[in-house]
Amino acid sequence: MSTVRDGLAVSEGISFGPVRLVEWQVPDVPHSMVETEQVEDEVARFDGARGRARERLRDIQEATRERLGTLEARIFDPQLLMLDDVEVVDGTIRYIRENRLSAARAYHLRMLEIQALWIRTGNPMILDRLNDLEDVMSRVLRLLLDLPEPGDVTGDGRPAILVARNLTPSITVQMDPEVILAIATDQGTRTSHWAILARSMEIPAVAGLVDISRVAREGQEAILDGRVGRVVLDPDERDGEVYRQRKGQIRAWEEELVEIARMDAVTLDGQPVALRANLDIPAETARAVQYGAEGVGLFRTEFLVVGRNAMPEEEEQYEAYREIAEAFPNQAVVIRTFDLGGDKFPMFLHMPAEENPFLGWRAIRVCLDRLELFRPQLRAILRASAHGDVRILLPLVNDVEEVVRVRELLAEEEVRLKDEGIPFHAGYKLGVLVETPAAALDAAELARHCDFFSIGTNDLIQYTLAVDRTNSRLAHLYNPFHPAVVRQLHQVSRVARAAGIEVSVCGEMAAHPLGAFLLLGLNITALSVAWPSLPEVKKVIRSFRMESAREAARKALAAPTSADVTRVLVEGLGDTVDLSAFSGRWSLSIP
Ligand code: PEP
Ligand code: MG
Repeated sequence: MSTVRDGLAVSEGISFGPVRLVEWQVPDVPHSMVETEQVEDEVARFDGARGRARERLRDIQEATRERLGTLEARIFDPQLLMLDDVEVVDGTIRYIRENRLSAARAYHLRMLEIQALWIRTGNPMILDRLNDLEDVMSRVLRLLLDLPEPGDVTGDGRPAILVARNLTPSITVQMDPEVILAIATDQGTRTSHWAILARSMEIPAVAGLVDISRVAREGQEAILDGRVGRVVLDPDERDGEVYRQRKGQIRAWEEELVEIARMDAVTLDGQPVALRANLDIPAETARAVQYGAEGVGLFRTEFLVVGRNAMPEEEEQYEAYREIAEAFPNQAVVIRTFDLGGDKFPMFLHMPAEENPFLGWRAIRVCLDRLELFRPQLRAILRASAHGDVRILLPLVNDVEEVVRVRELLAEEEVRLKDEGIPFHAGYKLGVLVETPAAALDAAELARHCDFFSIGTNDLIQYTLAVDRTNSRLAHLYNPFHPAVVRQLHQVSRVARAAGIEVSVCGEMAAHPLGAFLLLGLNITALSVAWPSLPEVKKVIRSFRMESAREAARKALAAPTSADVTRVLVEGLGDTVDLSAFSGRWSLSIP
C-alpha cells in the first residue's frame, strides 16, 4: 500500500526515484577543556576557523552568483554576518578565556544559546532562519573538529529523491540536478533559503512534510509532485500511471511550448483572457517570458526582505522592478508592496511573536506603520513606472482609509521625484488585493478609490473559511469551491464591472482547470498563475466557450455545497480536460 504525505509545494515539477535519506547535522561536540597556557592558541584557532569558513562561504557565494544570480548569492549574506556577529564572537572568546573551554565547545555553547533565544521568540520568520544558523554553526564546528565539510549529498551518484529533516542553503546550492531529482523535507517553508535556491535550480521540492524523514526508508520508491506538494511512498500501479501521465503531459507541453506560448489565451468563442505570471523572484522572469506570460499579475516583493538584516535600499528595489518591467514591454507588471507578517518576517523588524500572525501585524498594516520601509518601496515602484506599465498592488486591504493613505504617500513621493527631476509615469495604476471577506463585501467602496482589483484567493479562502492555509491537517477543508467563496468572487467581479475597473485573480485557484473555468464564467477575464501552469491554463481556456462557463457559474452560484459546486463545474467543463492530475489538490473529490 502506498503512503501519501502532503506538505508545502515549494518548487514545481514531478520526479520518480528511490529515496536517499540525508542526515546532515551539526556534529557532536565533546566537552573538552584546554590548559591555561593554551587559551590564546585556542582563541587563535577559533579566529582561524572563522576566517576559513568566511573564505569558503565567499567561494560558495561567488559560485552561486555565477550559476544562479545575484539575488540567490545574497542568500549567504546572513551567514557571513553571523560569522562576525559580536555576540557570537565575544561570547565564544569569553568562554574560551574564562572557562578554558576548547574553541569548538565554546562556540557550540554560544551558538546553542543564541539558537534557544531565537526559538523562544516563536517568530516564524526567525525560526525559518534557524537553518542558516545551523548551516554556519556546522561549518565552523567541522573546521574546528577537522571533519569534512557538509554538502555532499551525491551518495553513490545514482539519481535519487533526497529526503531530510531540513536542508541548508549551502548543501542545496551544491546539488547536481541530474543526481538530486527532488527534495522532500520535514521542515521548511516556501521562504526557506534552501527552498528559494531549489526553485531557482528547478529541482522539484516539497517542504513541511512533518515526518517524511522518519517515515521514508532508504531506497524506497517514491513520487514527488512539487506542484501540489505531495509525496507518495511505495506508489502502487495506479499512482505510477497517474503521475507518469501527468509528467508526460508536462513534457509534451514543454515540447509544444513555443507553439503554445505563441497562441492567444482565448476561449473557443473568442473571449480574450489576460494570462499573466506570478513571480516570487526576478530569476523566474525568463521562464515566464518563455512560457508566454502576457505580463506579470503578481510580483511578490518579499524576497527583498526575507532573511535580510537590513532594509533593502531604494536603488536595489528600483533595479529589480525595472528589470521585470523591461522584460514585459507594453504589458501590465503588477508589483505588490511588501506582504510581511503572517509567515514572513524580516529580522530587521524585530517583531515580537504574535498569537495569531495571520490575523496580526501583516502586509499593508506593517507598511503603513513603518514608513521608513514603505516610502522607499513606493518611490522605487514609481521610478520603475517610467519603464513600462507598472502597477501597484496593496495586500490585505480592509478599509478605504488604507488606500487613501497610500494615495497621499504616493502624491508626496511624486512631488519629491518631480523636484529631483527623476522620471516616472504619472498615469500608473493603484490596485487592491481583495483577500479578506471585508474587502470582498466592501468592494463597492474600495472600487471608488482604486484602479483595479486583484483577488488573492489563497488568503480569501483561508479568511472566509477560517482554515489556516499552511495547516496540512486542515487541507481537506481548504476548499476554493465553497459556496461562500464562489459568492464573494461573484460579488467582486460584479462590482468591478459596474465600476469599470479590471478584476483579476492571482491566487492558486486560477491555475486549477475548474477554477479558471469558474472564474471566466464569473466574467473574470484576467488570471495570473505561477509560470509552470501557464501552458496548462491556456489550454484549458482554449477548450471551452464562455456560454458554457457562464452557465456553469450560474449553477455554481445556486449550489448548496462545495461538492455540488465542484460537480456542476466538472459537468460543465466536460471531458476535454484531464482532471485526475489535480485530484490531490484541495482534496478535490471528482465524482
Ligand atoms: C493570495 O493570497 O491569494 C495571494 C496571491 O497572495 P499570497 O499567496 O502571496 O498570500
Ligand atoms: Mg495573500
